[in-house]
Amino acid sequence: MVALIDEHGRQAVLAVARDQLVLWRQAAAAGFDAAAFELRCADLLRRQATPHLRPVFNLTGTVLHTNLGRALAPPEAVQAVADAMSRPTNLEYDLADGQRGDRDDHIEGLLRELTGAEAATAVNNNAAAVLLVLSSLAARKEVLVSRGELIEIGGAFRIPDIMRRANAKLVEVGTTNRTHLRDFAEAMSPRTGLVMKVHTSNYAVMGFTAAAPEAELAALCRQHGVPYAVDLGSGTLVDLTRWGLPAEPTPAQAVAQGAQVVTFSGDKLLGGPQAGLIVGDKALIARIKRNPLKRALRLDKMTIAALEAVLKLYRDPDRLAQRLPTLRLLSRPTGEIRALAERLAPAIAQALGARATVQVLPCRSQIGSGSLPVDRLDSACLALGAPAGVRRAGSFPERLAAAFRALPVPVIGRIEDGLFRLDLRCLDDGPDAAAFVDQLALLELPGAG
Ligand SMILES: *Cc1c(COP(=O)(O)O)cnc(C)c1O
Repeated sequence: MVALIDEHGRQAVLAVARDQLVLWRQAAAAGFDAAAFELRCADLLRRQATPHLRPVFNLTGTVLHTNLGRALAPPEAVQAVADAMSRPTNLEYDLADGQRGDRDDHIEGLLRELTGAEAATAVNNNAAAVLLVLSSLAARKEVLVSRGELIEIGGAFRIPDIMRRANAKLVEVGTTNRTHLRDFAEAMSPRTGLVMKVHTSNYAVMGFTAAAPEAELAALCRQHGVPYAVDLGSGTLVDLTRWGLPAEPTPAQAVAQGAQVVTFSGDKLLGGPQAGLIVGDKALIARIKRNPLKRALRLDKMTIAALEAVLKLYRDPDRLAQRLPTLRLLSRPTGEIRALAERLAPAIAQALGARATVQVLPCRSQIGSGSLPVDRLDSACLALGAPAGVRRAGSFPERLAAAFRALPVPVIGRIEDGLFRLDLRCLDDGPDAAAFVDQLALLELPGAG
């Protein structure tokens, strides 16, 4: 087993060998087979050496899939992260005067330029950004929020809970479907510390609805000397309609309409690393930065490196759709996705043989991560189904999905109407598509017949 020690180290081999010896002793009647023992150890060690966090194919049809890591980084960001990790940097060091610097300096200028805000800072994610804003501006005070905007996003982030944790008192105004400016005006009191508008990222209220116009709400807040904050959730820095995508409010629009603080995610539509960005009035951002919680929620150097690289891409919107993976995938023409599906279908059919049927079907991708909840993008999928006469046909799609998840690069699809569907929007044509097809030879399918 010397070769195994060379590869995995003595300690790991010893641990596996000891565990296995116990099992072999228990089955002593079978006798000890040294070659089989070594093979078994080698197999276990190889499995232990495989990274637990590893790449998968996201063919779910949800582009920004929170469980699959949301946005993909452009090469510029990957390189910046590698540099920042492996070499000393001026993370908190002012190169001009040789003094201590501020880690926000690497991104504040870009965020100001791209949003029109006076100042900016950033923390670990948008949930942290909202917590920090509330804790800094509204502790022991009341926060007015429309009843139509008391959101819960996945993973137990609920506005009322966050308020409590920030030691702020939630005051609901208006009704579920209609909230007017006068509702806010009537709720204003000397105890009011903040008015917050929360973007309804993952649902839509439709029908007989009304919201207080943002510019008027901002003016009311200024009149009362109460800060007005907007939590955009997602928040892209450009107008998406330019690429035929549905409109999503931008931080620049919120600032222009009078928001004094705007919070948004780095890894939703913006297409960057996980981060929570906070832009707004200089005095308010300064208060937020003085809160000791800021230190607890601060960004690390990898994120700052990636964020700076991604924000720089936004300075050239004309080439953004080629350079930023999230936007490239969202704006990918349906015809291109369908052509890829048509081209791959025969190879897939061959790999599956008589064990499953394959067809190319139209489908609809979603943006995901609580962005643009109602809109869908036309796409194309490979739809795999049970061949005639298969046993337990009802559970066939689940067994198929499990077999695809067990591949060396797991393939994650979606089951709908009795078919296992692979939406090809997020499969890049080229080496990725070739690797996807090649590994199908290893597919261990539930047997037919
Ligand atoms: C997604 C979202 C958040 C949380 O953002 P994370 O970056 O996931 O922490 C907060 N508010 C709204 C409205 C959101 O959509």
